[in-house]
This record gives sequence, C-alpha cells and structure tokens, in this order.
Amino acid sequence: MSGSRQTIGRRDTHIESVPAVRLRSANSFSCGYQPDRSAKETAVTVEITDPAANHLLAALSRADFTEIKSLLKQVTLEQGEVLQEPGEEVEQVYFPHDGMVSLLAVMKDGRAIETATVGAEGVVGVMAGIGLHTALTRAVVQLPLVASKISAISFRKAVQSSSSLRNLVVRANDALLAQVQITAACNALHTIEARLARWILQSSDRSRGAALPLTQELLSQMLGVTRSSVGEVAGKLQAAGLIRYVRGNIEIVDRRALEKTACECYSTLRQASVLL
Ligand SMILES: [Zn+2]
Repeated sequence: MSGSRQTIGRRDTHIESVPAVRLRSANSFSCGYQPDRSAKETAVTVEITDPAANHLLAALSRADFTEIKSLLKQVTLEQGEVLQEPGEEVEQVYFPHDGMVSLLAVMKDGRAIETATVGAEGVVGVMAGIGLHTALTRAVVQLPLVASKISAISFRKAVQSSSSLRNLVVRANDALLAQVQITAACNALHTIEARLARWILQSSDRSRGAALPLTQELLSQMLGVTRSSVGEVAGKLQAAGLIRYVRGNIEIVDRRALEKTACECYSTLRQASVLL
C-alpha cells in the first residue's frame, strides 16, 4: 500500500463542486429527518489529495489503478450532504480519502438510524460495480469529505474488465455486511451511553483526533434516539470528564475512560476496518 502511494502522481486529479443537499433546521425533526433538496450548489476549494489515500484504490494493481484513476474526479462534500437515497438509482460511486459518510436505514415515517460508516478504508455505492444500481440506504456526509468519485456506469465497465476490481467490490461488500451486522446488534443490545461513546471514538479516529462538529440533531439521527436523550447522555459523559461538548463541537478529554464506556463494538468494528 505504501508503495502505491509513493509511486502515483497527483497531477491528474480534478476538483469540482457538487450539488449540496443539506439537513433541515434542527427543530424540524425528532430522531429522523428528510433532506432539504432546495439547497444551492456550493463551490469548495480544497487541497488536492491522491486517490491512493483510499485504501481500496491503493490496494489495486498498478495497471488497474492507472486505468481507474483516469475516470476519477475529486470532490469535496460538506457535512449533511446526501450522496444517495434508498430506492433511488446509484449514479456515482465514492471512494473517500478523508472524512466520513454514514449509511442510514430509513423508515417510512422518516426516522432513520445508522447501520454503517464509511471512511478512507471503504467505498459508497460499490455494488453498482456488479450491476446493482438501486441504493438500499441513505448515505450522508457526517464529517467533511474529500473523495474520488466515478460514475456508476464507468465503474461497472471497469469492473467487468478487471479481476482485481471485482475483488475490490466483493471485499468491500463483505466488510460492509460485517459492519452492518455488528451495528444491528449494537443498536439493539447496547445502551445509548455505550453507543454514543463508540460513535465518538469511531468519528475521532476518522478525523484524526480533531474536534468533531456534531450537533445533538446529527447524533440523534445516527443513534436513532431523541435529541433530549443525546443531550442527557452527552452531558453525563462531559460531567464525568470524558468529553468536552461546546457549541456543537465534541472533543475527547479522557480517551481511555471513553473506551471503557464504549461497548465492545468499537474495537470489533475497528479491527474489521483494519482487516479490510
Ligand atoms: Zn455496541
């Protein structure tokens, strides 16, 4: 992996803006939400990063990487932007370089709960590579994202002509399935406090320890609980000296204690993503 990163240049990477789809205001929801599709496009300037920052792309053979790299465009997406909705066609496949996307199961009444997260170790919409073009989940940017994207049609063509890309699809889907199974058990069996601690740790790992811009509204959506429950539990973690939660930003104060508070799923999910 490190070899690929050293040998692949950065000059061909593109930057573009994408339509922004934002969350409604905080008081519009209980523990679910509907995306507001009236938002305008936003142009974002970011540092160009290498597609090989994505672990799956970095693990491809050099020939396949070179081939797919010519089809990739770099995008930056802000917190709250929606990449796909359940039941809709997957038009783009995203390989994150940095940041985090949450995959949410959405109920008919609009409530939602997180079933998996995707960062630089994963990909969003990968099953489009073998012809499954209908999204099963809502994908929402949870931590500001830099990613390479490719149209689903181009990705499928590339997968059809490359065994290492087919392997990538299978491995990524296996890892996602494992994560969804662990998260399903976690959501049903573990306390809000343990799940919140697990989620903060996971997010912190993906933001490399930076403060997390997370409102109670976002946290309630991820955990499938009310905002008041999130506020109460976050207050408890803060009072115990584990986190600092000020104006929508969470910082970890005592990581070791937070790990003790988190359920086993934190280390299980972490190992699963490392193995990928
Ligand atoms: Zn758990």
